[in-house]
Amino acid sequence: YSAAAGSGQAWRIYSPDLEPDPNDLILLRDFRRHGTRDMYLLYQPKLDLASGYVRGAEALVRWQHPQLGNVSPAHFIPLLEETGLVTRLTYWVMEEAIQAVERCQEHDEDFSLSVNISSRDLMEGSTLIDFIKTRSFAYRKQALCLEITETGVIHDQRHAQKVIEQLHDENISCAVDDFGTGYASLSYLSAFSVDEVKLDRSFISNMLENRRHRTIIASTIALAHELGLKVTAEGVEDAATLRELAGLGCDMAQGYVISKPIAERDLHQLIGHRYFSETLLQEKV
Ligand code: C2E
Ligand code: CA
Ligand code: CA
Ligand code: CA
Repeated sequence: YSAAAGSGQAWRIYSPDLEPDPNDLILLRDFRRHGTRDMYLLYQPKLDLASGYVRGAEALVRWQHPQLGNVSPAHFIPLLEETGLVTRLTYWVMEEAIQAVERCQEHDEDFSLSVNISSRDLMEGSTLIDFIKTRSFAYRKQALCLEITETGVIHDQRHAQKVIEQLHDENISCAVDDFGTGYASLSYLSAFSVDEVKLDRSFISNMLENRRHRTIIASTIALAHELGLKVTAEGVEDAATLRELAGLGCDMAQGYVISKPIAERDLHQLIGHRYFSETLLQEKV
């Protein structure tokens, strides 16, 4: 057995057969050396389905590695989480996003940005709160939302809930990411006072063909609304699905049909422009 780095983390079985990927070692070495130097953020617009306007976006990190090229966050985020390095990335993303949201709010004063944090960041909540408090961010109410991506069971739910309450005190809202998969389930809605639910792409992508998925989506939207939460559908790739979601009362949508993740200057161009006409919205599928 080997104890994983950092306190409070569960013991892991050490397997000598699992040779670490040499590229992973390069990534970890270079993150320790250079941090976020070769990283940048893209923003994926979030469409408000009631109005047809882009009123928010999700910040997604990109790593343009000098030797390895573009490395997907789906690959390097888990590496940084396992080694306890992810918090350094999280702070940088938040810093960048807060500056970006102020610029976006020059186009739409209610614009909000979402950033991804891992459950590890949430557990190291006092550091997170201290970080937020030391920056006197001049952002408005609910300009920032933290999407909590589940990578494991949250062992201390009471602590996590306290962190969420402290974030609320700082005008920061919280979303459950990838809802319906893994650990992000109904029990989260009862344990944590989150503000938003993000329906996972795996339910959305085939909802027009899969009656069960459509039923789960419709019920989750109704349940979330009963609890006073907003619902975002992620991974919407076609107009028919977008219309269906609007018909079900889904609040926001994200996906390639609206836009892939884009640079901040391109995001500014989309703010204040109506994505679709009311007639398209009202059309029945
Ligand atoms: P996620 O939070 O579920 O983000 C959505 C992912 O789906 C993004 O991949 C996005 O580019 C992709 N996507 C968006 N629309 C569509 C669509 O219509 N169809 C399909 N097939 N895919 C779509 P990306 O950018 O590669 O990010 C992957 C994951 O990496 C994210 O999943 C998130 O868990 C993590 N991640 C990204 N940036 C950060 C970050 O700054 N911090 C942390 N902790 N995690 C991050
Ligand atoms: Ca997310
Ligand atoms: Ca997600
Ligand atoms: Ca995800």
